[in-house]
This record gives sequence, structure tokens and C-alpha cells, in this order.
Amino acid sequence: SDPPRSPLLEVKGNIELKRPRIKAPSRLPLSGSRLKRRPDQMEDGLEPEKKRTRGLGATTKITTSHPRVPSLTTVPQTQGQTTAQKVSKKTGPRCSTAIATGLKNQKPVPAVPIQKPGTSAVPPMAGGKKPSKRPAWDLKGQLCDLNAELKRCRERTQTLDQENQQLQDQLRDAQQQAKALGTERRTLEGHLAKVQAQAEQGQQELKNLRACVLELEERLSTQEGLVQELQKKQVELQEERRGLTSQLEEKERRLQTSEAALSSSRAEVASLWQETAAQAALLAEREERLHGLEMERRRLHNQLQELKGNIRVFCRVRPVLPGEPTPPPGLLLFPSGPGGPSDPPTRLSLSRSDERRGTLSGAPAPPTRHDFSFDRVFPPGSGQDEVFEEIAMLVQSALDGYPVCIFAYGQTGSGKTFTMEGGPGGDPQLEGLIPRALRHLFSVAQELSGQGWTYSFVASYVEIYNETVRDLLATGTRKGQGGECEIRRAGPGSEELTVTNARYVPVSCEKEVEALLHLARQNRAVARTAQNERSSRSHSVFQLQISGAHSSRGLQCGASLSLVDLAGSERLDPGLALGPGERERLRETQAINSSLSTLGLVIMALSNKESHVPYRNSKLTYLLQNSLGGSAKMLMFVNISPLEENVSESLNSLRFASKVNQCVIGTAQANRK
Ligand code: ADP
Ligand code: MG
Repeated sequence: SDPPRSPLLEVKGNIELKRPRIKAPSRLPLSGSRLKRRPDQMEDGLEPEKKRTRGLGATTKITTSHPRVPSLTTVPQTQGQTTAQKVSKKTGPRCSTAIATGLKNQKPVPAVPIQKPGTSAVPPMAGGKKPSKRPAWDLKGQLCDLNAELKRCRERTQTLDQENQQLQDQLRDAQQQAKALGTERRTLEGHLAKVQAQAEQGQQELKNLRACVLELEERLSTQEGLVQELQKKQVELQEERRGLTSQLEEKERRLQTSEAALSSSRAEVASLWQETAAQAALLAEREERLHGLEMERRRLHNQLQELKGNIRVFCRVRPVLPGEPTPPPGLLLFPSGPGGPSDPPTRLSLSRSDERRGTLSGAPAPPTRHDFSFDRVFPPGSGQDEVFEEIAMLVQSALDGYPVCIFAYGQTGSGKTFTMEGGPGGDPQLEGLIPRALRHLFSVAQELSGQGWTYSFVASYVEIYNETVRDLLATGTRKGQGGECEIRRAGPGSEELTVTNARYVPVSCEKEVEALLHLARQNRAVARTAQNERSSRSHSVFQLQISGAHSSRGLQCGASLSLVDLAGSERLDPGLALGPGERERLRETQAINSSLSTLGLVIMALSNKESHVPYRNSKLTYLLQNSLGGSAKMLMFVNISPLEENVSESLNSLRFASKVNQCVIGTAQANRK
């Protein structure tokens, strides 16, 4: 194995190479060895690489241009040159090559002394120990040995001299080397000092940097904490943002849907608007047309009523009541019209046998037949509805602004009250003209409200007895008392008449009308107990003030409908003895006759277009003056009893009615304002 190599050994090796191989290397301690070790010791402070480089030998050092040891490079060079020169003197060029290679990596060759073949018996010891003792006698042998030994000693001395010389050379080299190394050391020490200063500075810097690093680390940790917190916050915010984004998206979706719906709705609304506008225009046009038609209807209706006659007379014969004697057949006949039995009857024949006109032979005279013709004749079997149907159109004229007046004329018990108010017991079938007319008016007014007409109705109900007016709608303390009422003009210069102290009750439905009729019956009943049979001796006047308005066209119309249940038309038998009671009754009858005849006279005067119409001759005509005459339409029911005993009165009634029927009152005019 290789001996431990040190730079010193290498140097020594170098030196050995200069020597011939036969010479053994000296193992003696050299004085310069301590010096030789110095560069090594110096190099201990250097980096290993440098150490290694230096340990490789002088040649390596030459090639390695170390800037810090410029002086060192020269030393081995000169040494190497001198050594090489010395070696080449003894060994030739071949040896210098070996040196060159040996310098790099050759192991130091162990110097083994070459033994001579002849001296193999002699131990090669230099110590001079005799290997074997020659006998004392062998002086020659001993001399020879001594000579040999001397020779060896001389050789050895020579060798040692050479070695000494060599070592001295070596020492010189070493000293030179030491000198160079000292220089190098100083240089290196200077370097070291610089490096140390640098190191110190570096250390200081390092310290500063460490402090800086610490501070930065602290700041970093703070920042990291902050960053973590912020990251957490960011995550939260991102979460929130995601939530909000999804919400926003959802909202946007909904908004879009809503917008789509809205736009479609808008389009729909726009089209509906258009449609509505078109329909409104159409409606307006239709309304215009309808209004025109309505006015035309009114005009034609009126014309029709006029053609029928502004004064019409209907004859109604009541049936024979249970318990009444059956009249003889043929007493009353209802001949059919020119159109046959299908035509509504308009004719009536009454046959009367006059007992006083007996024949000479004594046989009863043949009955006298009286034929009458009216606008309409209702035989006993005619129902209330049938009768009303015939007057419904006339009643409607009142809504169009034409005053309408309907009378029931006839003797007591002929069915006037039945016709006007209705039969007993509240049977709807037996309802009279007043409730039916009002119901009809309410329903037509309701229909006309669709065309923009609004109607109001005010009812009053009075009776005229012995030329005094009494309110049949009186309530409370005035109930049945018959407090005085006066007929007055509604205002100065006004055509309208009102009854003072009488109630004018607004009505809008059947129930209210029913209640009023009920109240009127009660008031009459109370009066009847006071004065016998008073109701049949008085005129009952039901009046309905009708006001209509068409606000959008600024139209107004007003008229009154009067339904009059006249007092019994029977005359007092002049042949009867006149007691005190009869005298009173006669006065009553005269008053009644007077007012009824005044009614007839008024109608005549109107028919004859006389300048003076005697309205003021009776309370009845005075109260009704606005419902009679030029602009009014009048209808008279002549009620006839079917009984034979009433034939005379029936004939009187029919005669009166015929006279009225012959009257033609000028063209009626609607009361338009
Ligand atoms: P007036 O009022 O003319 O005195 P009423 O109306 O009181 O006569 O009638 C007398 C009676 O005859 C009453 O009992 C009434 O019910 C009855 N009566 C009148 N007309 C009819 C008729 N068309 N059908 C049935 N009964 C009638
Ligand atoms: Mg009556």
C-alpha cells in the first residue's frame, strides 16, 4: 500500500528521483523537515482544493496560475530546473522524462542496496555485527574481513558524504522554498486579514441581514396572517359573490321573463286599446243610432197613439158576482168586429125593455137595442193583464214626456176600483192598473238607463170629495183626519200644480208603491166609518210625476201619469122622497154630477178647440188640467155592471162615454224642455 503522502514526502520523492536507483533513500530526520512542513501548516487555513493543487507538485503549481502566490511559482521552477539539470547530468534525458512522470504520480521507489553476488554470505548489515566468528587463527580471513569492512565503511562514508552534500543542497532548496513560502505566507496573511475583515464585514452584514430577515420574517408572518385572513375573507366574499351572482342571474332571468310578459302585455294592451277605441267608436256610433232610433220610436209611438186617438174610450163589463141575479140573456152583447171573432171586440149592444112603453095590446114591448162602439170593449171574462196590455203603450208615453190621464168612469159597484187598484186579497193576478203601470214604468226606465236616461218618480194620492181635496197618503196625526188641502200653482208663473199639505213620495220600486196603495186603503177605510159609502162618492186621483234626463245629451223630459178612480156616476132617483139624509146625499150627488159633467164639458171644449176650457169649474178638472188638453193623452174606462137592475145607469154611462169617444183632441205634444 502507498505510504501516506504529504507534500514533504513528495518533495523528498522528487529529490530521490534525482539520485541513482542504487542508492537507498535516507530515512533520517531532516533539519529542514520542520521548514518543509510549514507551507502545509499554512495551507491548513486554505481551502482543500488549493491544498490538493499544491500537493500535486511543482509542475502542477507552474501550470496553476494562482494569483495569490506569484512568488511561489518561480521557486519550484528554478528548483525543478536545477534538479532536472542535475538529474539529466547523471541519468540522461530518459531520467528527466521519468522525473516528469514521477512528479505527477510515481510512487517513491524503495531504495534497496544492490548486493554483490559474492557477498551473499555476509549479512548486509551496516551495523557491523559479525555474522560468524572466524577462528582466531584465521588472521588472513580476519584481515580480509576487516578490509572488506573498511571498504564498506569507506563506501558508506562516501555515500554519506554524497548524501550530506545532497541534503545540504536540499536544505538550500528548502530554505529557498521556505523563503518563498514565507513571502507567500505574508501575502496570504495579508489576504487572510483582508478576508477576515471581509468575513467580519460579511458577518456584520449577515447579522444585519439576519435581523432584517427576522424582522422581515416577523412582518412576513404578520402579512401571512393578514393574507390568510384576507384569503378567508376572499373565500367568504367569493362565496357571497357566487350566491349573489346566482341570485342576480335568477333575478335577471325573472326580470327577462317579466319583461317579456310585460312587453307582450303591453302589446296586448295596445291592441286592446285599439280594439277598445274601435269599439268605443262603434259604440258611440251605435249609441247615436240607438238614440236616433229611440227618438224615432217615440215619434212613431206618439203617432200611433195619436192615430188611436188622443182620447180613447175602453168599455169594461164586470162579471156577475156570486149571489147576484143572473141577467137575462141578450142584455149585453159583444158583436165581433169586421175581422170576425179573432178581432179584439170593440162593440157592445145593450137591450132594454121599457115597461112604460107598453103596446096597445098590452103585450110587453120588444126590447130596445142600443149599440155602442169604443176603442176597445172588455167582456166580463177579461183579466187584469189583458186590460193592462192594452194600455201599456199609452203608459209608456208618459216616459217619453207625454202627459197621460186614465179615468175609470161608471156607477158605484161597476168595477172602477177593481180596475184601478185591483181585487181584494193581494192576489197578483188581480192587481190593478196602478201597480201594473208603475212596475212597467220602472222596468222601462231601467232599460232606458242603458241609453243614458235617468228617471225619477214621485207619487201622490188624493181624493176629492164634495169639492174638497184630501191626502190619502197622510200619516200620523193627519191620518184619516182629512185635513184641508188646496190645489196651488207650484210657483209664480209655473204651469205645474201641487196640492198643499199632501205628501209627494219618491218611489222607485213596486214595494214602495204597494205600501202607498195600502196606506191609501187604510185612510179610506177610516173615512168610511165616519161617512157612509164615502169612497164611492169621491174621486181618487193617483198621480205620478215622472222626470227623465239624458245628461250627456242635455235632454230632459217630464210628464205626469194620472190614474183617476171617479166617483159613482149614478143619479139620484128624482122620484124618491127627500128626507134630511137624502137631501145631504142629493148635494153630494149634485157635486159629483157637477164635477163629472165639468169633465165632460172640458173634454168637449178641448175637442171643439174652444178658447175657454172650464177647468176651474171643478177641483178635479183643475187638478188635472195639465194632464188634459192639447199635449195630453187620455183614456177613459167606462165600467159597466152586467146586472139587469143597472141597465139604466149602464146606458147613461155608455152614452157619456160615447160622447167622450167622439171627441178628438188636437195633436199631442211631448213636454220637452
Ligand atoms: P166600484 O169601485 O166601481 O164601486 P168595485 O171595483 O168596488 O166597484 O167592484 C164592486 C165589486 O165587484 C167588488 O167586489 C169587486 O171585487 C167586484 N168586481 C169588479 N170588477 C170585477 C172584475 N172584473 N172581476 C171580478 N170581480 C170584479
Ligand atoms: Mg170604487
